[in-house]
Amino acid sequence: DRVDNPYAGAQVYVNPDWSEQAAESGGEAIADQPTAVWLDRISAIESGSAGENTMGLRDHLDAALEQGADVLQMVTYNLPGRDCAALASQGELGPDEIDRYKNEFIDPIAEIVGDPKYADLRIVNIVEIDSLPNLVTNVSGRPTATENCDEMLANGNYVKGVGYNLATLGQFDNVYNYIDIGHHGWLGWDDNFGASADLLFEAANAEGATPDDVAGFAANVANYGALKEPHFTINDSVNGTSVRQSKWVDWNRYVDEQSYAQAFRQEAVRAGFDSDVGVIIDTSRNGWGGPERPTAPAAKTTVDAFVDNSRVDRRVHTGNWCNQAGAGLGERPKAAPASGIDAYAWIKPPGESDGSSEDIPNDEGKRADEMCNPEYEGNVRNGNSMSGALPNAPVSGHWFQEQFEELLRNAYPPI
Ligand code: BGC
Repeated sequence: DRVDNPYAGAQVYVNPDWSEQAAESGGEAIADQPTAVWLDRISAIESGSAGENTMGLRDHLDAALEQGADVLQMVTYNLPGRDCAALASQGELGPDEIDRYKNEFIDPIAEIVGDPKYADLRIVNIVEIDSLPNLVTNVSGRPTATENCDEMLANGNYVKGVGYNLATLGQFDNVYNYIDIGHHGWLGWDDNFGASADLLFEAANAEGATPDDVAGFAANVANYGALKEPHFTINDSVNGTSVRQSKWVDWNRYVDEQSYAQAFRQEAVRAGFDSDVGVIIDTSRNGWGGPERPTAPAAKTTVDAFVDNSRVDRRVHTGNWCNQAGAGLGERPKAAPASGIDAYAWIKPPGESDGSSEDIPNDEGKRADEMCNPEYEGNVRNGNSMSGALPNAPVSGHWFQEQFEELLRNAYPPI
């Protein structure tokens, strides 16, 4: 039987692939932190995810047993037509290759995970980031629509793939499935919030899945939203004008990830999920420390000045997601840090790139993405703002030393 929170009292697996890379790249102080294993293509099951990683899933599970770990975190990330609103992390499977997803990706993972020798290890499965939320926000009827997302909505393969993933891995009592819920700067608006909870519930009932297969949700995976904005809340106003009317908040209902995650949890229960679902928040890169971090609320002159000079999230726009300049490591991984939150966890391995701005040959499906180009002036999905990206990044999942060094420098809490 499953426990309510798999992280409670648990020792979490330290991924040696990441840990060694971090240690030899100047990150000795944090190299012993647990990070997730990414299954980002079929070959990752045997020989490791993109970039410098070499360990397959069995290697990781065996190493976890050797460490005496109680929990191993993995991300299953290989849907057909992956990442339909961006180019940086497009994957190896075409939009219609749902059968390959099932037979060549999920089934082989299940075969390994189901080996009885791993039965006492809790396996946290973060299910397919960059998928279901795109079917709410980036489809026809929205100014942000893309052709690829329209196609994935029409062919149903994200919903089917997620359903199959949940059902197949959820057959094992030691697997804890967490479905991606984007982040506050994506789904925090009224139009997106309830519709996303409903779509997730649909996926949790597709292809043999049931809500019992869902332990909870994962917020902010590979993103940069601040965990908590310490100097203002959504209820603040300036001379009678709500912060919701600032350019930065732009009518969102949430200003940070923790308030968003707690509210989404309740919305999901409203949509039909079990009342004991919990949320994991990825805090690997949302620290926003360093000398630029505001230390007190700013003067209440205008609503924009107040918000912009108070906020710790220093991005140009909350829609920016690629290798954000100025970011730092966030809260160190921690179990049950707040009500409804199962863990703060480092799901995106800090130091691994989000994507490149130039075409770099690779066999992973990855393409150049303007959102990774610091000169790019934006599109409707980021409010036509500058991208805020660091220059000269490798393709997503590959080691990006300059970013890693900045993440260390700007860590909050500091290292
Ligand atoms: C990439 C994956 C990688 C993951 C973790 C994603 O953006 O597409 O290949 O494993 O990031 O770094």
